[in-house]
Amino acid sequence: MGRLFSLSPCSFLIRISIFACLQVIVVVNGGTTNLTPPSFTPINHDLYHSSGNLMEEIKGLVHRHPNKLTMDTIKAGNKGYGAEISVVTYSRERRERDERSKFRILLSFGQHGRELITTELALRILSILSEEKFLPNIDPASLNSTLDKLVIKVVPMENLNGRKLVEAGDLCERRNGRGVDLNRNWSVDWGKKEKDYDPYEENPGTAPFSEPETQMMRKLAISFDPHVWLNVHSGMEALFMPYDHKNTTPDGLPSHQMKLLLEEVNHLHCQKRCMIGSGGGSVGYLAHGTATDYMYDIVRVPMAFTFEIYGDGTASSKDCFKMFNPTDLSTFNRVLNEWSAAFFTIFKLGPYQLGEINSKMSVSNLDKWVSIDDYLNGYLMERRNRYGKKMEVLELGMQEIRTYFRLFLLSSVLLMFMFCSRISKGKSTRQIVSAIPL
Ligand SMILES: [Zn+2]
Repeated sequence: MGRLFSLSPCSFLIRISIFACLQVIVVVNGGTTNLTPPSFTPINHDLYHSSGNLMEEIKGLVHRHPNKLTMDTIKAGNKGYGAEISVVTYSRERRERDERSKFRILLSFGQHGRELITTELALRILSILSEEKFLPNIDPASLNSTLDKLVIKVVPMENLNGRKLVEAGDLCERRNGRGVDLNRNWSVDWGKKEKDYDPYEENPGTAPFSEPETQMMRKLAISFDPHVWLNVHSGMEALFMPYDHKNTTPDGLPSHQMKLLLEEVNHLHCQKRCMIGSGGGSVGYLAHGTATDYMYDIVRVPMAFTFEIYGDGTASSKDCFKMFNPTDLSTFNRVLNEWSAAFFTIFKLGPYQLGEINSKMSVSNLDKWVSIDDYLNGYLMERRNRYGKKMEVLELGMQEIRTYFRLFLLSSVLLMFMFCSRISKGKSTRQIVSAIPL
């Protein structure tokens, strides 16, 4: 998210023209001999860690708090391109067998290289989880009781290769180390291009999951099977839920619960400034092949979100560091304080909201027909939860099983109907008519 050209074409052209005029004025006033290049804000190294330092800080936290944090590094590659992703797991009782019974949350930061503030937020959240930093106005006892029920996996920097390009001076780079947008490389509605498609921004890759980073994230999500997925970006202030590839939200109670949760976060932590709704419906453009749509539709994460935590709409379109990241200390601190508090609200309310969904679903299922799709999804989800990593096979087979099941049901109904009509021969037409609605 946080696409560079999210303005309407008209206002974008007006901005470009104003910017060009200002440049001319500057040049005229300053004399024609001394052409100064347009001033773009450089990375503020007093506020921001380099990728190397940030990961070192995180390793330090893990090292100092082995009772709460563990870290794994995953590597993958193809066609001469390699990538690695570090995953930090927070669990107060680090017993593997407890993981499945707890409420599971998966957070990803830094999927786009230029959005440095998101990776700083990852570090802040991990510092609070390890109790080296604290949230104001939060009672430690209630925080601990919330955290006892959770396993949180944090990917602090999903796109390390892209981030290194940004640090080397390409401040507008959002794609990975070989020019693919990692938030367009997933399989839901992959590869569809809008009229204003710009490969510099949104290159989806040669195929769904062509990129090692996306492959690793998919594996992680499928094996962890989270209840909450949160993809953290910057470029604007928004709380998005599915879908990104169409301008509607999903139907039903889970979608309603997601919206309620976002409204609460907006009220408590965003002073109601944040845009809320489907990514595709709210942001002004559709995004195809995004991580959040995949998490919701395929991994069946009941609460899947994309948060946009900061944006400077006044920054010129090429001044990417300023557009996507706070540049002064007070804004930097405000963003980290507000959003880390927002995450802890999610940690607290998420399990409660999901409980609401489950209890209401089970009550309503008693007095209404369950659709075949719901029944099968429920059945396959059960199996998936039990066997964890078998998901991919089930995912492929799901469509076929549904089709066979429908055919089977249809033929059974027909047979029953034929059977009943034979039995009813000789009886009055009225009796047959009264039997049809049953
Ligand atoms: Zn982004």
